[in-house]
Amino acid sequence: MEKIKCHIRVNSPFARIAAKVMGVKGIAMVLGRTIHLYGASRLEFLSNIAWLRHEACHLLQYRQYGYAGFMCRYLWESARRGYYNNRLEVAARLAENDQHILNRIEIL
Ligand SMILES: [Zn+2]
Repeated sequence: MEKIKCHIRVNSPFARIAAKVMGVKGIAMVLGRTIHLYGASRLEFLSNIAWLRHEACHLLQYRQYGYAGFMCRYLWESARRGYYNNRLEVAARLAENDQHILNRIEIL
């Protein structure tokens, strides 16, 4: 399977809103094929392998479900189970230990 080519956007206004909602200082969120960061630098993100793998899993989920499909599932899961038990988040947390997942993405 072809690698997902993705981008990083630092100081993202979308991630800033997410950080505020979540009550955290630093956050990464994936929208399509862009990883939006707020409160963390590109280098901080790239040097945190578990964090990278986590977001790589979300990139793969977008590829699997499509943009709207991911969004619908994510919002539904969050409303039904909350953030922590959202199945897309459970999968992404498991992916933090996946030694191969980063082979499936390419950060431009
Ligand atoms: Zn996540």
